[in-house]
Amino acid sequence: MRTPLPIPPLKTGASAHQKSYPAKTKDMIKVDLPKERAKDWKEVMLKKMAEVLDRNRSVRLYLESCVKCGACADKCQFFLGTGDPKNMPVARADLLRKVYNRYFTLGGKIWGKVNEAADLDEAMLQDWYTYFYQCSECRRCSVACPFGIDTAEITMAAREIMAAAGIATKYVTEVVAKVYDTGNNLGIWPAAWKDSCEFLEQDLKDTENIDIRFPVDEVGAEILLVPPSADNFVNIDTMIGYAKMFHAAGISWTTSTYCNEGGNFGMFLDYGNLKKVNNRILEAARQLKVKKVYWGE
Ligand code: SF4
Ligand code: SF4
Repeated sequence: MRTPLPIPPLKTGASAHQKSYPAKTKDMIKVDLPKERAKDWKEVMLKKMAEVLDRNRSVRLYLESCVKCGACADKCQFFLGTGDPKNMPVARADLLRKVYNRYFTLGGKIWGKVNEAADLDEAMLQDWYTYFYQCSECRRCSVACPFGIDTAEITMAAREIMAAAGIATKYVTEVVAKVYDTGNNLGIWPAAWKDSCEFLEQDLKDTENIDIRFPVDEVGAEILLVPPSADNFVNIDTMIGYAKMFHAAGISWTTSTYCNEGGNFGMFLDYGNLKKVNNRILEAARQLKVKKVYWGE
């Protein structure tokens, strides 16, 4: 892009109606979260917020160090696309910051609104759900911030706090649930994964007259390849590229039907699922007794 996008005129509430579909009960159970919004959701969220602030000192630092300079304001594609001021990174972070000020700072507890504090009430929860799910966690805004404030990390904190009270979206819970069911985001079952690998082997024989293997679940291979699962489904030229490279280098390798997804959508849900999805890679490496893991997304 040669010239910056023009800053749009402010349109208050322009994307307030764009709410993500709520998670389905079956997926909430699968990702080990409360299956519906907790009756005492406010207490649960504040408890989780205290835990997140203790665990991630960076979040507390980001909440306390913003000087409202506005350098990030026009860096978010969601603001540029909608003109909704709550999609400015600084305003998005303020949704969490106001609640932090209200319940976790002395000034906010005593002076409330004067200290830029706000209650965690239904209206605030609706704003959190809307605007923290209109952030793609791309971190573009953090590059512009003179203090290095990472709004993506603030978004992750807010989503984790909501998830603890049973509030999450259909998309992200469904995708993580698929990883636990099938090993990947796309829901490719082991038999289909193997079938696709066999198809690619045959395809290379037919089209290029070369004999290259696409090994699956081979114990003792040197390398475990954990690609984006789409590489064995739609972007098959990339999968063919991996196989040719390992073949040319004479390296033994394998994919795993337990874990064949390089992307970690747990990052878009909560820390617990982020860790659990990551651990599947380690578990697959142990199962197959490989020496190295090649992993990318
Ligand atoms: S991290 Fe979120 S707020 Fe920042 S630019 Fe990306 S989408 Fe916008
Ligand atoms: S650029 Fe940084 S300090 Fe300035 S408003 Fe944005 S988050 Fe705050």
